[in-house]
Formats: sequence, C-alpha cells, structure tokens
Amino acid sequence: MIFLKTDEELELMWEANQLVGKTLGELAKHVAPGVSTLRLNSVAETFIRDHGASPAFLGYKGFPASICTSVNDQVVHGIPSEKVVLKEGDVISIDCGTKWKGFTGDSAYTFCVGEVSIEVMRLLKATKKALYMGISQAVEGKRVGDISHAVQSFCESKGFTVVRELIGHGIGRDMHEDPDVPNFGHSGSGDKLRNGMCICIEPMINQGRRNVVFEKDGWTVRTKDRKYSAHYEHCIAIRPEGPRILSSFKFVEDVLGNKAI
Ligand code: MG
Ligand code: MG
Repeated sequence: MIFLKTDEELELMWEANQLVGKTLGELAKHVAPGVSTLRLNSVAETFIRDHGASPAFLGYKGFPASICTSVNDQVVHGIPSEKVVLKEGDVISIDCGTKWKGFTGDSAYTFCVGEVSIEVMRLLKATKKALYMGISQAVEGKRVGDISHAVQSFCESKGFTVVRELIGHGIGRDMHEDPDVPNFGHSGSGDKLRNGMCICIEPMINQGRRNVVFEKDGWTVRTKDRKYSAHYEHCIAIRPEGPRILSSFKFVEDVLGNKAI
C-alpha cells in the first residue's frame, strides 16, 4: 500500500532527510586513508543522536550499525568494522538513515578515498548522473518505470551494469514502503506517481558484470567479479511543481569542494 504524505508529514520527511545530508557532510570530513569504517559509524551515530534523532539502520532487521559502509567491490550493506581501514584509491559508499518524529530519512553517497583511477571516477560520475536522470522522471502522472528506464538506459549506454537484486523503494514512517523503485525496467510500466508519494531512488551500478553475491555475514553484497560498484541515493517527494529532493548532497559538496563527484 502506498501512503501519500500530507504537507505536514512532508516537512518532517524533509527534516529527517536533511539530517541525513548533514550526517553525510560530517562523514565527508572523516573519509581518508587510515580511517576505519567503524570510526565512521561512530561519527555518524554521535552526530545523529546529537541532533535529537536516531539512526534508522541500527537494529533494522538486525543490522548491527548506524550506517552501511561498502568499500570497492562491495555494493551495499557493508558492516562497519575496525578491521576495514580505508586506503588511498578506495571508494566507499556510505548509506545513512535517520528516524525523526516518526519519519525516516535515507540517502547514500559514494566517496573517493584520496585519488581514484579515471575508470572508477567515470563509474561514480555516471552513477550520480543516473540518479538525477531518474529524479527528472519523478513527476506526477508518470510511472515508476519511467524512473527505472531512465537510470538503466543511461548507465548501460556508458558501459556499466545495473544490479537487479536490490532496488529503491517508497519511504515514510517505515524505511521501506511501497512502491518498489527498480533501477531497471520499461517506460510507462509500474505504479503511477502521485502527489505526496515519497520514494528513494538509488542506482547501484557496477563497473563490470551486474551479478552480485551475498556474503556470509548476512548483510554485505559485493560484485561477483570483484570489480567496483557505486551507489547514490536521494529521497524524493512527488509534488505538482515537480520532484522535490528531500535529502541533500550540499553538505557533502561543501566539504569536498572541487573534489566532489
Ligand atoms: Mg539508503
Ligand atoms: Mg534506500
């Protein structure tokens, strides 16, 4: 069932998602060679709680941390660990969620650790661009498949592949609500987009083949061919005037400056 949000609820969704954006901005200050992903988790959890919210991921279906930290060939759902220490040339996808006054924020950004290869930078730029191409289709009266098709066709035209096993989603009081928002599909298919819908669009795009494996820790998803993967996510509200991005990369980009993706 799709829950349409009132104007008041959308403001709370905006607040929850802005805090995710600010948390990602705080994390941007800490992503560097020598830093463990557990340290990043601690930075995020402290920041979220200091702002009076709680980390939406902690305990969600048993997830043991406040953010997902997925390095290099890890696609999503990596578990922060003191054993995972970032090094020059890595990429790290950080997915972050908040609970605020009963509503949920959810957004993700893939960061470079120092300098990365030109090919990896191309993957990151294409994945981020695909997110915005998807958002451009998040228009009242269009269908979910219009978003899916925009993401897929752009990424594949650049020679990258779209993960099938994980998809975007509706969001609201719960982190995962209807409808499903796949990153692949046909224009004109799927649920119709209506005023007040909130959805997360989150392309998970691979450098090599699209196939993934699920690690024995029960969470981490990585590419089968061990090539790199990227993940950018925004939370969007469908509004009569067009898509409203509730989350924000501004705080990350303020920190990264001209090193932003
Ligand atoms: Mg997310
Ligand atoms: Mg999500």
